[in-house]
Amino acid sequence: MFSPSIDNLIRALKNLPSVGQRTAERFVFYWLKSGKKEVNDLREALDNLLKNIKSCEICWNFGDSNPCPICQDQRRNAAIVAIVEDPQDIPVIEQTGEFKGRYHVLRGLLDSGDEESFNKIKIKELRTRLQTDKNIKEIILSLNPNLNGEMTMLYLEKEIKKNRPDIKISRLARGLPMGADLQYADEITLGSAIKNRK
Ligand SMILES: [Zn+2]
Repeated sequence: MFSPSIDNLIRALKNLPSVGQRTAERFVFYWLKSGKKEVNDLREALDNLLKNIKSCEICWNFGDSNPCPICQDQRRNAAIVAIVEDPQDIPVIEQTGEFKGRYHVLRGLLDSGDEESFNKIKIKELRTRLQTDKNIKEIILSLNPNLNGEMTMLYLEKEIKKNRPDIKISRLARGLPMGADLQYADEITLGSAIKNRK
């Protein structure tokens, strides 16, 4: 519809979550109108992201170091691990002040509509972690209470019970409505969901 270079970039942008054709078009024409400096700043920010951000090979969070600061922090309780869907869930839980353990970031959920989802998320890495780190005594399944979240929690429960029956498994207490998104829960609700986990 537009010139090939413009269409190309629109196509790439449309791979981003919640970006459709119209939004992608708005971005591209905004950059074309705003001039080279803004586009260069953006490119530099993306370059720095690729250059500096590492995966923590313990919890699979993203950060400037591997292991990440949370996994390196000796004051945190190594016996408790909260399993979360996304890296963005970590600051939300941190803000409640109710959790002083460590994390495991799945980077997604099992998805019945996507056969590859099992291989895409960090489930195998969790299994390895639980096999090697015998300090872990409790797992808090802290996934969003939606369909895929429930399915993933059921799978993990079975998997952990089978491989590490000594581990106590809990879930965030009710109070988080079905279909809720952790990232939009208020601190008090989420804080009490952690405190009253079962
Ligand atoms: Zn980490």
